[in-house]
Amino acid sequence: MTSGTPAPATSSPADSAYATANEQFTAVANRMRIDRSMQEVLRAPMRELTVNFPVQMDDGRIQIFTGYRVQHNVARGPAKGGIRYHPSVTLDEVKALAMWMTWKCAVANLPYGGAKGGVTVDPYGISVHELEPLTRRYATEISVIIGPVEDIPAPDMGTDARIMAWIMDTYSMNVGHSVPGIVTGKPISIGGTRGRVDATGRGILYITQTAVGDLDLDLRECSVAVQGFGNVGSVSARLFSEAGAKIVAVSDVSGALYDPNGFDWQYLAAIKNTGRFLGVADTTHQHLTNEELLELPVDILVPAAMENQITALNADRVQARLIVEGANGPITPEGDRILADKNVVVVPDILANSGGVIVSYFEWVQDIQSFFWEEDEVNSRLHRIITRSFSEVRETARAQQVSLRDAAYMLAIRRVADAVQTRGIFP
Ligand code: NAD
Repeated sequence: MTSGTPAPATSSPADSAYATANEQFTAVANRMRIDRSMQEVLRAPMRELTVNFPVQMDDGRIQIFTGYRVQHNVARGPAKGGIRYHPSVTLDEVKALAMWMTWKCAVANLPYGGAKGGVTVDPYGISVHELEPLTRRYATEISVIIGPVEDIPAPDMGTDARIMAWIMDTYSMNVGHSVPGIVTGKPISIGGTRGRVDATGRGILYITQTAVGDLDLDLRECSVAVQGFGNVGSVSARLFSEAGAKIVAVSDVSGALYDPNGFDWQYLAAIKNTGRFLGVADTTHQHLTNEELLELPVDILVPAAMENQITALNADRVQARLIVEGANGPITPEGDRILADKNVVVVPDILANSGGVIVSYFEWVQDIQSFFWEEDEVNSRLHRIITRSFSEVRETARAQQVSLRDAAYMLAIRRVADAVQTRGIFP
């Protein structure tokens, strides 16, 4: 978790995340000739919980916060998905993120359905003495629908292992015994797994290594721009750097830093360790806006911040040959169409950033068995699953003559529809 207050300047009000999620689903479901009633079953979120709850602030005031937990579909297993703390969190956004989790788990063939949660709050604008009771009260409010075999939260934007520990402890106190499997992304000392912090970025590296091969590129000769310098963006940048790629631009909410000769990772790591914004801490490199970063002449672009960053307004100015979606929903459907016309290869979020939920699944399995793995075992299993998913998506894309995004949706929709069909409609 790093500092961040939002302002996705490239999106328009029409770019609602839920509208994007629905449009992506409907286009592929129609193409697959999924009948209307099955489409309705697959589209509708199963449960939407909104909670308004009080927190005593440091100055003695009581402030009401609003939070959400949405479970989209559980035909394939318990609901799984992160919790976001961000000032722009809305029910619309959480519904979109929950739906994407259903497809993401299905693409990776994990025995999970999709969920997401969030609280409308700037976690960097309140003190730790406010953040902890906020988290514990939110966890208590949503505990009516979460559980280790019902719905298992994890970190997302603005949340981290410490917040997962508070949720695990709150849930455990309420039921009277430790329940490590209630959340993933926990600290290792209370049942977390090795490799989870790096998992999403590591998955992005594995996916990119495969994708550049398809484009006859060598990752060691590629330039990379990464938007967002939190968990996903900073780990991706580090692992790309270690793999020999040239990181020419990174950004956080304060803006972007650009060096066409490539950054020394140690320099960026040192800034990150201070907890300061890139745009504030650096005085020696060229400063760009987040919008300008997206348009740089690079081989690989990794948007790893917010939704709706590449849209009809800027997609034609994107110069990257390959975009690997670290964030959820960074490209709108219109942006996607423009990129496809320019022959830009896009590895979609529901495949590209699935490393996080794959290793979350490993954590949950280890918690159930109370038997913990070494990090190399975690990483090699992650590699096997995510590269297999990529191969399945690529084969589908070639066979059906569709984009990687549509192919990933096809695989996911087919798997979830099969599960719904096989289970039948209750009662
Ligand atoms: P984070 O809170 O750790 O970091 C977010 C980063 O984005 C910060 O550097 C912040 O300054 C920056 N940022 C915020 N608003 C921005 C803006 N408008 N423009 C540019 N940068 C901005 O969050 P994270 O966990 O790294 O998540 C980032 C994205 O990846 C989200 O879309 C999230 O849903 C997705 N994701 C996260 C995980 C995970 O395991 N954490 C897994 C899959 C997908």
